[in-house]
Amino acid sequence: MSDPPRESMDFDVVVVGAGPAGLAAAIRLKQVQPALSVVVLEKGAEVGAHILSGAVIDPSGLDALLPDWRNDDAAPLKTPVSDDRFYWLGPAGAMRIPNFVMPPLMNNHDNYIASLGDVCRWLANKAEALGVEIFPGFAAAETLHNEAGAVTGVATGDMGVARDGTHSPGFQRGMELNAKYTLIAEGARGSLAKQLIGRFDLDAGREPQKYGIGIKELWQIDPARHRRGLVQHTFGWPLDSRTGGGSFLYHLDDNLVSVGFVVHLNYKNPHLSPFEEFQKFKTHPAIAPIFADGKRLAYGARAITEGGFQSVPKLTFPGGALVGCAAGFVNVPRIKGSHNAILSGMLAADQVAAAIAEGRSHDELVAYEAAWRESAIGRDLKQVRNVKPLWSKFGTLGGIALGGLDMWTNTLGFSLFGTLGHGGPDHAATLPAAGTKAVAYRRGDGTLTFDRLSSVFVSNTMHEEDQPVHLRVRDMALQKSSEHDVYGGPSARYCPAAVYEWVKEGGEARYVINAANCVHCKTCDIKDPNQNIDWVPPEGGGGPNYPNM
Ligand SMILES: Cc1cc2nc3c(=O)[nH]c(=O)nc-3n(C[C@H](O)[C@H](O)[C@H](O)COP(=O)(O)OP(=O)(O)OC[C@H]3O[C@@H](n4cnc5c(N)ncnc54)[C@H](O)[C@@H]3O)c2cc1C
Ligand code: SF4
Repeated sequence: MSDPPRESMDFDVVVVGAGPAGLAAAIRLKQVQPALSVVVLEKGAEVGAHILSGAVIDPSGLDALLPDWRNDDAAPLKTPVSDDRFYWLGPAGAMRIPNFVMPPLMNNHDNYIASLGDVCRWLANKAEALGVEIFPGFAAAETLHNEAGAVTGVATGDMGVARDGTHSPGFQRGMELNAKYTLIAEGARGSLAKQLIGRFDLDAGREPQKYGIGIKELWQIDPARHRRGLVQHTFGWPLDSRTGGGSFLYHLDDNLVSVGFVVHLNYKNPHLSPFEEFQKFKTHPAIAPIFADGKRLAYGARAITEGGFQSVPKLTFPGGALVGCAAGFVNVPRIKGSHNAILSGMLAADQVAAAIAEGRSHDELVAYEAAWRESAIGRDLKQVRNVKPLWSKFGTLGGIALGGLDMWTNTLGFSLFGTLGHGGPDHAATLPAAGTKAVAYRRGDGTLTFDRLSSVFVSNTMHEEDQPVHLRVRDMALQKSSEHDVYGGPSARYCPAAVYEWVKEGGEARYVINAANCVHCKTCDIKDPNQNIDWVPPEGGGGPNYPNM
């Protein structure tokens, strides 16, 4: 029996994703042209539920979007950065890097420590007050196209489809949301963005996008150890010098500390576990005392884009555009992308409003693509464009030293390196297991360090169990012959939520996918050595439920 037809709704603009980019775009559209009908779809059960960030926020985006925000008591940016420290960690000691050697752009003064999830909830209220419709709990599952191929909107996924594809009693057909323009604001490795980049060849002539996985915990610590406004970053131990990454540790209000660890996904050793490296980091003698007598409140993980200036794809396609981290506007050495997400949402919104005012629809917003490199976003990313390639090429010590030099010369207006390439995509960096060293990790102690399952528990992750698996393995035979037999099953280690397991049954290895644990970080979609896993949105509302990450 064929599915019943979908109902449809018409809007001027559909925005996919209620992160800072999507919400900024929606707010700006209504500021510029209040009569426009604008809808924002969000796959999380509520706005902010899937937002995970540091976050130290550069307020330049908010200053442009809501110039009066500092006078708004509801604004959740209450903790100005008061102290900014960088450390190099060895196995037993820590060396502070004096602030004066850091390039000025790395300075965090005038920035705020906040929960980006809370910022999004506040922005959503602002958007709704302007008349934007926000639909949380609805994932955009596919783009809609007209006969010429232009994007004409999106369709939300069907609800109530059982794992075997049959319809359960609560079955509900998805909705078609038609629009003159569609803005894709899905964040890093968006599932629709991935399809659109392929379909419209948006990455032709660009460097491959690069990623890291960021794993984060929120702690309430002993008040005696809390230093409100302190921002601390480390690099070095426990990662070896050929593996990029480092930690962040931000002291918010109320004795809260946001601690996280980013591992660059071009790591080579398939035995490495980013989750376990993070747990190990917390045991360092310079770090562990911060958490003594503290309590872990929340956990989560999310991919972060790291390709920067040279990896940003073409932003526009007929009928819409990519905004925010769906395009990859993170300034890697600053670990900041939320300000550029807001600015790109605004830049795209201005072009959409102007096009609609001229009576246009479903065409390409060429002015947006033409504008970003000369905008504040382009200037921010251009001066740090070589940091990631230098780090990948020369390892942590050499790469950071050369990257620092390049950032200094860029502040003076030139680079000794031009614009460096990234080499290949992250999945291609993984080496076969034979010939690489196994890595031994200690079991979590349940106080300072934890295992993955108890961690997923505090991410409040929930999915409808009886639904098709949203982690689609294209070719199961290849997964066995290559991911398992050649690469040693790295998915069992890179996934921060224990979704993937190779289980021995009668001497045979069987791939088990515990899809209900998935925290939507997108790492499997990026790091699978054969690009054999596609992450697609599960039923809307499923996934983590971060209260304030
Ligand atoms: C560990 C970590 C630390 C970071 N630290 C900082 C920091 O300190 N400062 C800083 O400025 N930046 C930081 N960043 C980067 C920052 O979080 C991003 O640049 C920013 O969140 C990008 O905003 P966005 O709106 O483009 O995407 P996101 O914030 O990822 O939001 C995308 C939204 O779209 C939704 N969505 C995705 N797909 C769909 C779909 N198909 N249908 C419906 N909804 C969908 C998601 O659920 C999500 O709510 C960090 C990132 C990470 C991972
Ligand atoms: S299954 Fe993939 S997207 Fe989900 S948590 Fe694991 S690595 Fe992340």
